[in-house]
Amino acid sequence: MILPKIILITNSFIFLFREFMTRIKNTHLACLFLTSISFSTFASVDDINNKPQFVVISLDDGVNQEMEKSVAQLNSTIPLTFYVNVVQQAGGWVYEESMLDIVCVNDDGLTTGEPQCVSNPKSINNLYKKGHEFALHTYSHPAIASGNQGEPLTQSQIENELKKNYEFLVASGIPGDKIKGFRAPFLDTNSSGWDRENKNAALGHLQGIMNQLNISYDSSLSAAPEQTQPRKGVRHCTSIPGGWDNVHCDFTQKEQFNWEDGGYPKYTVATQPKSNQLFMGYKYIDGSIVNVMDTVFGACNQTCTPEQAKNIWMENFLNHYKDASRPPFGIYLHRQSLSISDEVDGLNAFIKEVQLEYPNTYFVTASQVSDYYKIGVDLTPEQIKVFLGK
Ligand SMILES: [Zn+2]
Repeated sequence: MILPKIILITNSFIFLFREFMTRIKNTHLACLFLTSISFSTFASVDDINNKPQFVVISLDDGVNQEMEKSVAQLNSTIPLTFYVNVVQQAGGWVYEESMLDIVCVNDDGLTTGEPQCVSNPKSINNLYKKGHEFALHTYSHPAIASGNQGEPLTQSQIENELKKNYEFLVASGIPGDKIKGFRAPFLDTNSSGWDRENKNAALGHLQGIMNQLNISYDSSLSAAPEQTQPRKGVRHCTSIPGGWDNVHCDFTQKEQFNWEDGGYPKYTVATQPKSNQLFMGYKYIDGSIVNVMDTVFGACNQTCTPEQAKNIWMENFLNHYKDASRPPFGIYLHRQSLSISDEVDGLNAFIKEVQLEYPNTYFVTASQVSDYYKIGVDLTPEQIKVFLGK
C-alpha cells in the first residue's frame, strides 16, 4: 500500500511549495513553477467536500463608460473576466478589412473618439485596477469560422485581428503577461464553419497566433459533441461518463487550455432551449439544446423578477456544486443583460447566497480556472487562498 507515502510526499511538497510562494511573494512565478510539474498521478479526491467549486462571470464585447456603470452595480468583491473587442463592424459578423484601420487609442492612452470604437481605454484601465481580467475577443468582431464570405478567416486576417486586439489592451494599460485568454466572437471556433475544407488550416493559424501572443486558454465553447472533432492542442481532457475532472486531462501538452471543453460538462448555465440562437454556442441538458449566453435575459424573455433570476442561476450552480466532479460554472453575459435592474438584483442575490451557504466556492477569473486545472491535483482551502493571491 503505497498511498500513504504518496500523500505524505505530496503534502510535504505542497508545504514546501507554500513556503516558497510565501517567501517569493510572486504568485505568477509560483504558478509557472507549479504548472511545470505533473501531479496527475497523485490526484485522488474522494470526498466531494474537498473539491473546490469555481464560478466565473464573464462579459463580452466593448468596454466603455456604460460598462463601467453596469459593473458598478454588481457585487464589488467578484472578479469579472472581460473579452474585449475594439470596433464593431457594420455587417455584424462579416470580416471587413477597413475596420482594422480605425484607431481607438491615442499615444496618451485615451480614446480617439472615433464613432466605431466600442471600447474606451480609460474604462478598461479603471476596471483592470479593480482586479478584473481582460482578454482577447478580436479587434473587429468577425465570425472567425465563417466571416470571410462564408469561409474561415485567412491566416493574416486572424493574425491582424488578434494582434491589434492585444496591442489595444496593452495601450490601455494591461500588462502583456496578464493577457492570457481568448474568446471567439459568437463563440465561433468550432461551429459548422469549421467543417469546411480549410478548417484545419484556419484552426492551426488561430492556434499559432495564440501561441505567439502567449495566450494560455481559449474560452470559446464547443459545438455539440457529435459535431465536434477534438481540437488539437486545445482539448486536453477526455470525456468520462457522468462527469468532468482534472484527473483525465493531459496537461503535458503546453498549448492552450479550453476549460469548458473538458468532457463536455453535462451542465450549462441556462434552463430553456433557445433554438434561434444556436450560433452563440450550445450544449445539451438531458437531450435538449440550451443557450449558454445572457441566460436570464434569454430564459425569461426580459420579464424575470429578481427572485426568478436568482433561482435560474442557483439551479444551474447546484447542478455543478452537487456533481462529484464539481465542474467550473460559467456565467456568460453581455452588458445588455446588466441594463435590466431585476437581472442585476437577481445576480447579486445569487452571489450573496452562494457566498453564505456554499462552502469551498470561489468566484474567480477564467485564467485562474485555467491555471488551477493545470496543477492537476486539488489544493486545500488554505492553499487555494495562496493560489488566488488572497
Ligand atoms: Zn462578442
